Amino acid sequence: MDTEFAVVGGGIVGLSVAYGLLCSGKRVTVYDEGDTAIRASRGNFGLVWVQGKGQNYPPYARWTRRSARAWPQFAQQLAQESGTALNLQQRGGYSIHLTEQSLADKVASYEKLRVALDDDYPFEVLGHNAIKQEEPHIGPSVAGAILHHEDGHVNPLMLLRTLAQLVRKRGADVITDAAVTRLEPQASGYELQLQNKQVHRAEKIVICAGLGAKTLAPMLGFKAPIFAQRGQVLITEKMPPFINRPSGEIRQVNEGGVQIGASSELAGLNDSETIDITAQLARNAMLMYPKLASASLLRSWAALRIMTPDGYPIYQQSTTCPGAFYITCHSGITLAAAHALLLPEWLCSRDHGEPSLPSLSAFSEARFNV
Ligand SMILES: Cc1cc2nc3c(=O)[nH]c(=O)nc-3n(C[C@H](O)[C@H](O)[C@H](O)COP(=O)(O)OP(=O)(O)OC[C@H]3O[C@@H](n4cnc5c(N)ncnc54)[C@H](O)[C@@H]3O)c2cc1C
Repeated sequence: MDTEFAVVGGGIVGLSVAYGLLCSGKRVTVYDEGDTAIRASRGNFGLVWVQGKGQNYPPYARWTRRSARAWPQFAQQLAQESGTALNLQQRGGYSIHLTEQSLADKVASYEKLRVALDDDYPFEVLGHNAIKQEEPHIGPSVAGAILHHEDGHVNPLMLLRTLAQLVRKRGADVITDAAVTRLEPQASGYELQLQNKQVHRAEKIVICAGLGAKTLAPMLGFKAPIFAQRGQVLITEKMPPFINRPSGEIRQVNEGGVQIGASSELAGLNDSETIDITAQLARNAMLMYPKLASASLLRSWAALRIMTPDGYPIYQQSTTCPGAFYITCHSGITLAAAHALLLPEWLCSRDHGEPSLPSLSAFSEARFNV
């Protein structure tokens, strides 16, 4: 057998999983498609975000928080091994509101979640004056904000690069320009056929191929009911620090640029940006931080999220092909720490039934059975 674990997909999810498996002493090969592949991992907003996650599904809120709590250890481990800082900051983050009504609605939904989480959901509500104290550059149109103390952000491109570097350093074969076109169970293990017709073998397979899983995962009995959701993002020139904490719409990155985003649209696999959304994002950002009116916009781009029908992750071992796993999620940056530090236990388990980590059974594909 060539490798113990074949990880299909070299985005944030595949690399986090591969890194975790390597730390557990497994032999891993990562297969990744060419540079033309659609990659959410190169176009995202970099939030390590808790608030709002799992508002109607407490297992997702718990899983997200578990990952957010594991992030400091994860970031430290990656920094020690690579000598590269990921610029993780977890000093809290805001949900900013321009009307009293939208703030009140959001607070009500968080209060409901707080009850479901046994009162353990650390947020506070800031009126205009209170947010102004925290963020002196906030605009007069801002009605208030929710400060959630577990939120933060990281440099997502540094994370991707560091994981790619460490996965190789820890001995994985990383095969790029290697679109997998066929996955097939064998008497023992699996065969993977690549676009160049090469055939590779592995004991176990973990499919983390983002939107590419839509065609690959059903070959091993998964449903993979995923679709693309386009998000558009802008970034300004570098500016002296003036935003203390990130929000879902605006963050000042460690190099000084202000990242503004991100929209949500259904546009199929079209990952082009559009002027109307760019203008809308910029207008909204200037209402929140009027200082941005004089900032030059450097770049705008769009990228495609990998969405499931309910927006929650899928962690599934195939019911027909034991040893084949499918992983996908909407928030691969936030969940990277959990994927690297917690998932190996599940992936290496001898139990071929339901996920061995209790919290993962809430994320099986069985929830999509009609
Ligand atoms: C605009 C935007 C903002 C976002 N903001 C955040 C945020 O703030 N915080 C957060 O936590 N998340 C955020 N996300 C989500 C996050 O970026 C994704 O959850 C994450 O990048 C998904 O990683 P992935 O590895 O599953 O997918 P991808 O990055 O899409 O990677 C999939 C990989 O699989 C490979 N592949 C596909 N098919 C095949 C095949 N057949 N054979 C071999 N390889 C294949 C591709 O080459 C690709 O490299 C955002 C996403 C977007 C679009």
